Amino acid sequence: MWPLPRPDLDVRDVYSTCISNTRPTKVKARLEQLEDAVADAADEYETAATTASLHTLSHLRDQPDGADTAKGDNKKLTGCYTSRMARKGSAGREIYDQLLKRAHRGLCPLCGHGFADTIDHQLPKVAYPLLAVTPANLVPACLPCNKARGEAAPATAEEQTLHPYFDDVTDHVWLAARLTTPPEPGAVFFVSPHPDWSATLTARVQRHFTTCNLARLYAAQVGTELAALNDYLRGKPYRAVLDEMQHRAASYGTRNSWQAALYRALAASPWYITSGYLDEWDD
Ligand SMILES: [Zn+2]
Repeated sequence: MWPLPRPDLDVRDVYSTCISNTRPTKVKARLEQLEDAVADAADEYETAATTASLHTLSHLRDQPDGADTAKGDNKKLTGCYTSRMARKGSAGREIYDQLLKRAHRGLCPLCGHGFADTIDHQLPKVAYPLLAVTPANLVPACLPCNKARGEAAPATAEEQTLHPYFDDVTDHVWLAARLTTPPEPGAVFFVSPHPDWSATLTARVQRHFTTCNLARLYAAQVGTELAALNDYLRGKPYRAVLDEMQHRAASYGTRNSWQAALYRALAASPWYITSGYLDEWDD
């Protein structure tokens, strides 16, 4: 949902670093033989991601060994990530830490809310062993987003969640909220597609929103925010409340954070501005 600059890392350098300490030498020699296939897959990935077509890479699925192989090359390649990049003290761990540090203010680009303290494979490494350490496939993410995306791989263009290195939907307002009134006060968050979006992009943003459980994540933040806001507004006249809400909504501009969507909804709600803020909200 929130774009990040693509890592300026060469896949061959990354791969060579990760496998540099591999023992026994027989395994290392085999991994060295696979370097061209890893580099070729990374090139294909780059081209497909640039055109929002990662679903077209199904020919790379389960390669190089094929689906039935639990051992062999596929396992060696996924091990390049788990044992030789993500593991503390491993040869590639510095690269892993570099990738983590790319998260803006340390926050997950997939939800904009959680701490980005894991690395998420946009195309899962188990299904795509050749892409296990491809830098463009490795995105800093919070654990809930990482887990929520799981091992699923897109079969169609519409099934692709947003890729922070290749997709940017920050030009338009698309995150919206609808207030709910007592006895269950709060807000329901949803995607409001921009008219300029294609049907595919609309489906992808919806997919991303649903996959990462963003409606639930954002709704959970509302109670505390509104309890404090209501305390602040209590006793102010209608006009002051309206001005305050309009000012706050405008101050978020076209941002698509849950706060921005919430304040846009509050500013547009006659119910909230006339009486809703006087309710006791449980924080
Ligand atoms: Zn997240």
